[in-house]
Amino acid sequence: MTLTREELGRYSRHLSLSEFGIIGQEKLKAAKVVVIGAGGLGSPALLYLAAAGVGTLGIVDFDKVDISNLQRQVLFTNEDIGQSKAAVATQRLAALNPQITIQSHDVEINASNVMDILSSYDIVIDGCDRFVTRYLVNDACVLLHKPLVSAAIHRFEGQALTYVPDQGPCYRCLFPEPPAGDLVPNCATAGVLGVLPGVMGTIQATEAIKLITGIGEVLNGRLLTYDALEMRFATFEFKRRSDCAVCGDSPTITVPAEQLVACATPDDDTSISIAELQALLTQASTRKLQLIDVRDPHEYTLGHLPSAINIPLALLDTQWNSLDRNKLTIFICRSGMRSQQACQLAVQHGLTSAVNVSGGLQQWNDTVDVSRRCII
Ligand SMILES: [Zn+2]
Repeated sequence: MTLTREELGRYSRHLSLSEFGIIGQEKLKAAKVVVIGAGGLGSPALLYLAAAGVGTLGIVDFDKVDISNLQRQVLFTNEDIGQSKAAVATQRLAALNPQITIQSHDVEINASNVMDILSSYDIVIDGCDRFVTRYLVNDACVLLHKPLVSAAIHRFEGQALTYVPDQGPCYRCLFPEPPAGDLVPNCATAGVLGVLPGVMGTIQATEAIKLITGIGEVLNGRLLTYDALEMRFATFEFKRRSDCAVCGDSPTITVPAEQLVACATPDDDTSISIAELQALLTQASTRKLQLIDVRDPHEYTLGHLPSAINIPLALLDTQWNSLDRNKLTIFICRSGMRSQQACQLAVQHGLTSAVNVSGGLQQWNDTVDVSRRCII
């Protein structure tokens, strides 16, 4: 037996479960699980896996704690604002369970490091909020033969599935391509009920514990959906696709690559950079341009650019007449996603000289106005 006296005490409620016992706890102790993203999903997943006694836990996150994270990312407190998520999470989990090893990866996961990072772990939990990363991690897990527990959240709804190598379909079998050309909302723009990732991240931890100990049935070939408003869970079966680009019979993806999604890189001729915006605001007369902030009123109230007029994206359709068609219309939002949508709508409504600010106020804060973090 590899469990110490202290561990026998700590995990006694696991040891009392006949399906689990000492053998199950020893399997947890020997297991290495990596969690991509210490955010809404990663917070509960990491907390429960650390508490459960998973011997080695990896945390991959390059972000810093922001006040808007605290509504759902329960690993962090008010005092952690501005600190590295990976560093704070490491401290918090070590305080919860000093008997496990925590490995912090304070990097942005990408095509060049994903294989390296994932290869030293047994199981991968994906808690990222970007489609690019979700597909990248799925493809890397298939190529590395690593089980993957994937989850996603949107507003009041969540979904989860588990990929078991050589036994079931992968994420790409269900959703072959990222919704390219579409505008993909994330938590920042679409909003999310704070407790929702708590439910889904806990489900991810449960799946990982079952994969490690071999008890129960995981979501292999099943998509679990959760509707928090209706309070309904449902599962849908799906099968491996023989033409899947990564796990199919003749895969075309043999090395992980980042597939670009429209929202990730708004790059068209209607976008202007932060530097271009700054130049326009300082050089052009306001008689020649109108700056429209399409965020919601509560975001605008927290902070906005001096000459910006607030017309939330949802109300834009009722406000076309209030816009001056002889001026250059510049749409701005938090990250550049809603403003890109606004820009497309404007063009459809005949405002030919409309542009959106790529990177939005987030980038403005990072590059121009570093002291005014509250603006977003
Ligand atoms: Zn597949």
